Amino acid sequence: RRCLNRIKNTQHLNAYITVTEELALKQALESETRLLQGATKGPLDGIPFAVKDNFCTENIRTTCASRMLRDYTPPYNATVVQKLMDQGAVLVGKTNMDEFAMGSGSTDGAFGPVRNPWSYAAPYREQTGAEPDSDWVVTGGSSGGSAAAVASLTSYLALGSDTGGSTRNPGALCGVVALKPTYGLLSRHGLIPLVNSMDVPGIMTRSVSDAAIVLGILQGHDTRDSTTIPAPSSLTELPEDFDVKNICIGIPKEYHAPGLSEETLAQWSLVADMFDRAGARVKQVSLPHTQYSIVCYHVLCHAEVASNMARFDGLEYGHRSEVNSSTEAMYASTRHEGFNDVVRGRILSGNYFLLKQNYQHYFVKAQRVRRLIADDFKHVFSSGVDMLLTPTTLTDAARYSDFKQEDNRTRSAQEDVFTQPVNMAGLPAVSVPTALSRRGLPIGLQLVGRAAQDRKMLSVAQWIE
Ligand code: GLN
Repeated sequence: RRCLNRIKNTQHLNAYITVTEELALKQALESETRLLQGATKGPLDGIPFAVKDNFCTENIRTTCASRMLRDYTPPYNATVVQKLMDQGAVLVGKTNMDEFAMGSGSTDGAFGPVRNPWSYAAPYREQTGAEPDSDWVVTGGSSGGSAAAVASLTSYLALGSDTGGSTRNPGALCGVVALKPTYGLLSRHGLIPLVNSMDVPGIMTRSVSDAAIVLGILQGHDTRDSTTIPAPSSLTELPEDFDVKNICIGIPKEYHAPGLSEETLAQWSLVADMFDRAGARVKQVSLPHTQYSIVCYHVLCHAEVASNMARFDGLEYGHRSEVNSSTEAMYASTRHEGFNDVVRGRILSGNYFLLKQNYQHYFVKAQRVRRLIADDFKHVFSSGVDMLLTPTTLTDAARYSDFKQEDNRTRSAQEDVFTQPVNMAGLPAVSVPTALSRRGLPIGLQLVGRAAQDRKMLSVAQWIE
């Protein structure tokens, strides 16, 4: 009830697309009954959670923040949602996002932009003298609603999705812990795809130890997702006193990227020094293909978008246009009315990259570059480095008015410079809030681990925390 009341009191954040009040009260009551009977299911029993609106939820609409799916109600739960419910967790709502998870601001959905809760907190107000209604900052994206939900204490954990940074970016800008697990560790069944070979469900929590508990419960092979890898579904508690002495931390030199703010750089150096003083080995490493990552990601992403979005034809799912002069005309106007210009733009360029005469030049070449980017990480890890320490974002959160003023798509692309390469390589990464900027806004740092070493990475993240 407290979470549901808080959701009502923070409606200005626009974090939720659908609030599942009735279901939440029912699930909470069931949980309370179990508690009274001494039959709780575990640490998540009765814990309120929120889910990004691109995960299918049984009998609850799932919109992807698009007009295309405005009234779409799936008949089943995504595996990760089902697993949380099986543990007795209580669903409070579906969260706002960029349409079909394309973006880095959560400003581009059909239900309007999400506002960062830190815009209303004392540090930002005092530092900037900003007026609540005229000036606020973005959450980052595309899982901005989930990040805002955890940051504004309307849920204890939230699911996001992470294809190029969409969980870690808003996690950093909203000051919450944001975990992108190793590709294949968590099932994608029921997650509406953006880039199938990079998508992973992401976990947002208030602490690293909470993220570890949720990861332990969600991980493991799923017969409905052939890319999942076996891992025991278990209660994972992190060691209390993890010693970083034997850890080797890599600092990628290419991540001193243009646009990196002085404050974020200072945080990065500070935490690297902390590791050094604690006896860890800290060394500079090189990921030479980093500079090609954003372009490469976008060729691959748009190609997969062109293919994935083909299912939205007005016949099987969601919106159907009134225009019915011909089948072709119905398809065209359904897609014109249903998708925003970001989605339509990616479908167009994706189909261009996939044309018979362009396929080798763009798509195949981008796949090769992707392999080089992934190999960069392999080389670094095989040289004895255990994990990488990097910033999560270039700067703290941008004001909405500034974010919208610049060419949003260019900005959006640049924002993912530290997060995207990790998705290309399928590695685990976590963003941890470490400080507030001079403007009173959160700054986050990212740890990148070796494949399937999510737990070790989280132990080190907890040490930073
Ligand atoms: N910002 C990136 C994009 O727009 C990443 C999105 C994501 O991780 N879902 O595609």
